[in-house]
Amino acid sequence: MAAKNLTPAKIISGLCLVWLTSSFVYPIMVDVGGKAVQINAYPELYLIPLFGIWRLRTEKDPYQKRRVKWMIGLFFLYWVMIPIYFPRVPLLDGTTAKTVDAIHMVGALPFFLLMAAVVLLGKKADCGYNCPCVFDRETIGFAWRDATLKGDFWWKFRHIKWISMAVVWGYFICMLIDPANAYKTFGEPMYYYISFAYYISYLIIPFTGHRSFCRWGCPWSATWGLLNKVGFYKIKADAEKCSNCGLCERECDMGVPLRRLIQEKGQIRTTECMGCGRCVVKCPKGVLTFQDFRDIIKGYNLNHTERAIRIAGGLTLSALIFLKPGTLWGWLGVAFLLTGIFGICPTYMLLKAIFGRFKSPDRNIPKGM
Ligand code: SF4
Ligand code: SF4
Ligand code: SF4
Repeated sequence: MAAKNLTPAKIISGLCLVWLTSSFVYPIMVDVGGKAVQINAYPELYLIPLFGIWRLRTEKDPYQKRRVKWMIGLFFLYWVMIPIYFPRVPLLDGTTAKTVDAIHMVGALPFFLLMAAVVLLGKKADCGYNCPCVFDRETIGFAWRDATLKGDFWWKFRHIKWISMAVVWGYFICMLIDPANAYKTFGEPMYYYISFAYYISYLIIPFTGHRSFCRWGCPWSATWGLLNKVGFYKIKADAEKCSNCGLCERECDMGVPLRRLIQEKGQIRTTECMGCGRCVVKCPKGVLTFQDFRDIIKGYNLNHTERAIRIAGGLTLSALIFLKPGTLWGWLGVAFLLTGIFGICPTYMLLKAIFGRFKSPDRNIPKGM
């Protein structure tokens, strides 16, 4: 699909993508009161909220609108609140790293937590809602969505990402074998080149679509993709109901050949699907339904508002761990936060088992993450 019509949104988006790239590849320093200050540092902090508001005002699909709200909320959680509460996180090699840098760092605690989340909820736990990259691409770069390259060739091209995945896991093995030197000899150059490719990829968005790095370049996309295939997540398809109209395929920003997969496999279980839900919502015949661990482990699935309250309340309470170490309330806050993130409350499950009164929301209708 080639990009159509050069709209004002695309021009502004293009300029902002150049600005975003410059923050890494060409830092612009100015003298402020005798101190060198980088004026293009962390443009995401203002561009994501601004383009996020634009997305919320222009998005027609309520499901995607909700997804954008999740993304903006998680952006503040990840880039503002968690780094304030937890400034550093432990790494497997015995060192620690700045939390803001370590969300995807191999061997860091958040990396393993994300792995678990992807097994339970699918790649959408990161690539559909959560990754700093999805925030950028689905807000700042979104205007170029119609440039997304699709078709057989680009679907086969997806395999190129295994190369970057092999490099990342090579580093992980180095960490285990020689933890003292792994970062200097392997990790530092690797992160530099991955970051360089990541930022340069913003410049090709107008020619490839906004998720091109996610499709072809990202090592974590490949890692999460493998977990997507072995974990609980998939999109179930009722092939008999499918009229082969192709609407779902046209909606997919990851270039997934949905129609073929529906006919051949009766489900979408690929390394690419990042769970945006566009295909599920768009299908006029109701052929597609999400499935993840919440459908396997039967229990009470919290609704959207309950989850938001638990995430906000749990996060606030968990600060007590630092303000007043040893207090039980802080750990209850963490438990509350986890029930919100995963959408399941064990207390509700217990009450449901005893009294049978609590009704689970209908999981056939996508309800957000
Ligand atoms: S594919 Fe990679 S860059 Fe894209 S959202 Fe997922 S982790 Fe982030
Ligand atoms: S297959 Fe559906 S849910 Fe997955 S990325 Fe494509 S449109 Fe989104
Ligand atoms: S939109 Fe629905 S009916 Fe049309 S091809 Fe996709 S799954 Fe089949």
